[in-house]
Amino acid sequence: MNYENYKKQLLQLLDEIHDQQEKHNAGHPAKVERRDLENTEEDDLTETEQGFRVHNILEDLNAKEKMVKEALERIEQKTFGICLNCHKKIEEKRLDAISYTKYCIECQTKLEEASE
Ligand SMILES: [Zn+2]
Repeated sequence: MNYENYKKQLLQLLDEIHDQQEKHNAGHPAKVERRDLENTEEDDLTETEQGFRVHNILEDLNAKEKMVKEALERIEQKTFGICLNCHKKIEEKRLDAISYTKYCIECQTKLEEASE
């Protein structure tokens, strides 16, 4: 397994996520209006539709950032590419498409079905 390639991919992805976070943070009403105040989760929810939209995008970006960081940790620990659920190897084809994935396709499908 070529860890270096995936590491490069993941670091690039992390950069892109940070760029987008910055872009959306700038337009986040809670951040613009209360920049100096400590926000709780509830404070970050705003009434405006625009605010909700930005909030959702930022939440998605934060979730993705977390997954990418976890994937980078797994590279350091040499457990990258191994399904966290069944501990089998994740197909390289799948890793090439979603390098930060935690699960093999079987487990992902099972977990998605279970959460519905
Ligand atoms: Zn699995």
